[in-house]
Amino acid sequence: LEEQLRQSQKMEAVGQLTGGIAHDFNNLLTGIVGSLDLLQSRMAQGRLEKLDRYIGAATTSANRAAALTHRLLAFARRQPLDPKPVDANRLVLSMEDLLRRTMSESIQLNIVTSESLPLTICDPNQLESAILNLAINARDAMPGGGSLTIETSVSNLDRFCALSQQDVAPGLYVTISVSDSGTGMPADVLAQAFDPFFTTKPIGEGTGLGLSMVYGFAKQSEGHVRIYSEVGKGTSVKIYLPHHTGELEGEAPASGLSDAHRAEEGET
Ligand code: ADP
Repeated sequence: LEEQLRQSQKMEAVGQLTGGIAHDFNNLLTGIVGSLDLLQSRMAQGRLEKLDRYIGAATTSANRAAALTHRLLAFARRQPLDPKPVDANRLVLSMEDLLRRTMSESIQLNIVTSESLPLTICDPNQLESAILNLAINARDAMPGGGSLTIETSVSNLDRFCALSQQDVAPGLYVTISVSDSGTGMPADVLAQAFDPFFTTKPIGEGTGLGLSMVYGFAKQSEGHVRIYSEVGKGTSVKIYLPHHTGELEGEAPASGLSDAHRAEEGET
């Protein structure tokens, strides 16, 4: 019965998701077709001045539609992961410049690394994308400035998580927390925050994929993610990843990644 319930919830989620994308995509197509119609009738009437307005509008909508499918593809393609032993301290420190460039000047960036942090095992590219997504959310939650703190630690996770009601394997996790002093999230936003395509940002600015990507990454890495948020005070999103216990297989712990990847995934 439980399995059936889960399946039907999954189907509902897929339905919501595809419905949402179809809706957004359709709006963009309507914009393109509308602009082209106007362009055509102007040309038929021989009114050839200022036609670039319509071309510009159609191009803008087409580019948005392309960006939407691009993000969707990036989201769908996040598998397969390429898990390796990862030194989260090194990875976070290697992101310092990128993070500084991503923040506005009125945001103070603090990076706090835990001494003697054990290695974790995960896909370092995906971890970097996840941290960048969280940092961008933090920035967006602090339009008037504030502070962004990225901190590594080893921490315990209690078994019951009220938000997701997921069953958690107890034990120690390598934890990466991304905390801001921003707006915080009201209960109704918090309840939907991990849903794909849920966003409170204006159309064209938010995709609603950031937190669901982080969630998917944590799950696939056999870890967890939790949001701690208080309206008016700020938000802390914590990613809990398993310890690396096996042999290193002669590989150096990974940190950082190529600029190509940054350019591709940095937006979501
Ligand atoms: P997006 O950022 O594109 O909206 P996300 O899935 O990353 O998509 O986030 C979903 C929503 O959760 C955001 O629109 C915002 O309302 C809320 N949110 C996420 N991170 C934060 C944060 N650090 N502070 C306040 N609200 C946040």
